[in-house]
Amino acid sequence: MKVTIVGCSGSYPGPDSPASCYLIEAAGFRLLLDLGSGSLGALQRHIGLYDVDAICLSHLHADHCLDICGYHVARTYGPQAPYPPVPVYAPADAPARLAAAYGMPDEPGLETAFDFVPLSPGSFEIGPFTLTAGLVNHPVEAYGFRVANGTSCVAYSGDTGESAELVKLAADADLLLCEASFVEGPDLPTGLHLTGRQAAEHAVKAGVGRLVLTHLVPWNDPVVVLEEAAAGGYDGPVELARSGAVYDLG
Ligand SMILES: [Zn+2]
Ligand SMILES: [Zn+2]
Repeated sequence: MKVTIVGCSGSYPGPDSPASCYLIEAAGFRLLLDLGSGSLGALQRHIGLYDVDAICLSHLHADHCLDICGYHVARTYGPQAPYPPVPVYAPADAPARLAAAYGMPDEPGLETAFDFVPLSPGSFEIGPFTLTAGLVNHPVEAYGFRVANGTSCVAYSGDTGESAELVKLAADADLLLCEASFVEGPDLPTGLHLTGRQAAEHAVKAGVGRLVLTHLVPWNDPVVVLEEAAAGGYDGPVELARSGAVYDLG
């Protein structure tokens, strides 16, 4: 399994990265976790525009889903259009919400380019992967994901505050892509995002092999996020996410 960080900027695109998007590949199958603002561009540095086999959207905040709109244009009007619909696993509101974002009536919406499949907690097969979705701790319906293929496993927090479900999803994963949107400070809201320290604490509880801190918000100093993670007690490898980074999990 190969994991490529396409976009890791938190809440909006930064100068060095688009918003959230992760490419998971195995056995020739290409799965995207999130397609946030700006990520469709950077994705084309790694695979062809039409090489996506399935997409999972963790939640419907713009920084995780909005490039679905541009991708609809590419798949509906591109040179060899129409291209076959791509399955999009997403919260049930996705067809209406994304059609509205595009400026499209609900019918036909974006369904010429995508087959929307409503997410619910549990496990199911996507290509060579077993994907487990679990509800995490965010103000909207939001999922974390565990993607396994029998030899390797990656977990992705999506956006979440402290979450026992995230610990379950990430149990013994080779790699945890964990959000670290906040830096420590007084009166941080709960149920929204994690600090680097909290991300590391989740990595300890889950016993993961590697921790990558992601959803890095451009107004924070990433060095501080990494320093704060050191206080979380995790003794495995930990690093900051970077657009273009590749992890070969074997
Ligand atoms: Zn976000
Ligand atoms: Zn969010």
